[in-house]
Amino acid sequence: MIDYHLHLWPHGHSAAPMSVDEIGSYCEKANRAGIAEIALTEHIYRFKQTKKILGDFFLRYPESKMRSLMFEYWHQHCGADMDEYFSVVQAAKDAGLPVIAGLEVDYYPGEMDKVASLMAGYPLDVALGSVHWIDDWPFDHISDPFVMEYWNHYGIEKAWGAYTTALEELAQSGVIDVLAHPDLIKVAGHFPSVPDEFFDRMAQTAASSGIAAEVSSAGIRKPVGEAYPAPDLLSKFFELGVPITTASDSHGIDHVGFRVGEIKEFITSAGYDRLLGFKERRPYEVEI
Ligand SMILES: [Zn+2]
Ligand SMILES: [Zn+2]
Repeated sequence: MIDYHLHLWPHGHSAAPMSVDEIGSYCEKANRAGIAEIALTEHIYRFKQTKKILGDFFLRYPESKMRSLMFEYWHQHCGADMDEYFSVVQAAKDAGLPVIAGLEVDYYPGEMDKVASLMAGYPLDVALGSVHWIDDWPFDHISDPFVMEYWNHYGIEKAWGAYTTALEELAQSGVIDVLAHPDLIKVAGHFPSVPDEFFDRMAQTAASSGIAAEVSSAGIRKPVGEAYPAPDLLSKFFELGVPITTASDSHGIDHVGFRVGEIKEFITSAGYDRLLGFKERRPYEVEI
């Protein structure tokens, strides 16, 4: 197994200095859970280099309490140095640790060319692609009552539609290798009347873009209480020949390898007998 979605820094905290020892402890914990290789995939918005190219991204939306909240979030999170991040991961590789260098890349409508040129300057092994917000609404901030209350205002069907459209545009941008937590829009436990319509679109876009989908145990820790993707969506990925990675989306060491046994069972019962690994953004097959 692999854990191809890991963060070093919890949300709401500034980026702490990184070390090879810290990465080593992630690898050790993963190894004890039967995981052969990990990918560090820090949020691209954590880095000052991203802030430099995207500026005050959220100021493009009309003034509102939501916009102020995201403006603050953006500023709170953008202090780390991407050069340092990649050089510490390289040092961990040089020390023989089973780690690859990744990024978790959000969808920035109209700005993906800039994001792609930033990424091209770094020795990246894998790029995850994520939709974490609809315009300036961070619909997955489940601990913020104001953000969660907005579900009532926006509406479930409309939210699933907007999320899926953003996911399609991100998949087709050519900038990413793997769709992270593909049905993240279910995080708070809100489902549309016919989820299959959206699942069909999510599976189709992964298949037609030639990218992989992530199977993540993170959803089990969230109000929705199940892995991403939902079983029906995983079946659709399998039917369309979409390859998969596996992940915990741990933000710190605590959840490294979280419920990896359950994920193994989940993917094998859906029919998968291979995962996809990445080196320098080139995919190759890995044994489960
Ligand atoms: Zn994410
Ligand atoms: Zn993540």
